[in-house]
Amino acid sequence: MTLGEALWHGQAHMPTTARTRLTIAGGDGAYVTTDDGRRLLDATAGLWHTNVGHGRERIARAAYDQMCRLETYHCFGRFANEPALRLADRLSALGPVDGAKVMLTSGGSDSVDLACKLALRHAQLSGDTTRTVLVSRDRAYHGLHGLGTSIAGLPYNRDGYGSPSLVPDTARIPTNDLDGARAQIERIGPERIAAIVAEPVIGTGGVHGPAEGYLEGLQALAHDIGALFVADEVITGFGRTGHWFASDRWGLQPDVITLAKGLTSGYAPLGAVLVAPRVADRFFADTPDTPMFRHGLTYSGHATACAVAEANLDILAEEELVARAAAAEDVLTKVLDPLRDHPLVAEVRSGAGFLAGVALRADVDGAAVAADVTDEGVILRAIHENTLQICPPFVVTDDEVDHIATTIRTALDRRV
Ligand code: PLP
Repeated sequence: MTLGEALWHGQAHMPTTARTRLTIAGGDGAYVTTDDGRRLLDATAGLWHTNVGHGRERIARAAYDQMCRLETYHCFGRFANEPALRLADRLSALGPVDGAKVMLTSGGSDSVDLACKLALRHAQLSGDTTRTVLVSRDRAYHGLHGLGTSIAGLPYNRDGYGSPSLVPDTARIPTNDLDGARAQIERIGPERIAAIVAEPVIGTGGVHGPAEGYLEGLQALAHDIGALFVADEVITGFGRTGHWFASDRWGLQPDVITLAKGLTSGYAPLGAVLVAPRVADRFFADTPDTPMFRHGLTYSGHATACAVAEANLDILAEEELVARAAAAEDVLTKVLDPLRDHPLVAEVRSGAGFLAGVALRADVDGAAVAADVTDEGVILRAIHENTLQICPPFVVTDDEVDHIATTIRTALDRRV
């Protein structure tokens, strides 16, 4: 057996992947190193997650110290561990919603599934027994667990399972058209909707920032119809939009916020869900009839992952990396701007944080362009709508941001 013959990659055409596999063996700051010694600028921060950059010994030490003390203890029933307690309090204080309660998860997809279940449970407990529909935006990506796959606005991720939506009762609204969203909600029946789930900046669906007033309007619409407003901040949380949370940037007060990725910058698998008091309180009231939320995983609040998150948050705060992301957004917008005129470029989407998408014309092979740019030393991915994803670690320099744009241009010029 050759090395890795057994590994089945995610989201991959395996025969192609087996021939073109790129094995990353090391990482340092904004760079990673391949197993054959090439150094690549990580312009995607892995899968949008390496906010503090690679190779942070301080985080490794936090994991080591915690594992030597206690690898983990679960948080079911009356049990807990110290890092989980500290991290929950810290996230509640850091997040945009005062007094939020915090459930810890094993990643973004878990956070989304938890949020969906909580919205359905909230409706039932509120006596709204008809509220079983989960609404999300066209192009939205909410992870690949069952419920996240079902609600997302990327239909190809649920093709081939024999049911149009994996689970019933989901619906989509337009990505950025508030009147269209309102009309769609009227068609669905506002009294049937348990939650409207929205990525503040659509990531995997092609990098779409919100139209002016859209997110605020969507939140108001959710509340007008008696549904919960869930912000999926798995990408946008922990600095990516130049604020700790996109909800801060756009003045949102979601009922539920889903988090992962930048929570640990990928140094350990961990997610979190912040729940506003207006949803959480009924589960905390000191009465014999107080309901339980029957959810939780073996690794919810994993002690080592939580210790890693604490060290990661310390780095983000002490090195002022959220402000760095805000400044880098302007640099990224500026260096990508000239690409708008390139004959192979359909659209450049930037200005909603330190992330951008360069959408190529439909007749250009975006995956091949991304592969060329990667071979030139800058890791890129082609995502939805033939879009090149750009989302570097916050520690990247301005020159390196410029280098990303130059390398894209060179790869495109070669194809004209
Ligand atoms: N939600 C959003 C907005 C995401 O971008 C992602 C992952 O890219 C997820 C949820 C799922 O997160 P994970 O891959 O950690 O399960």
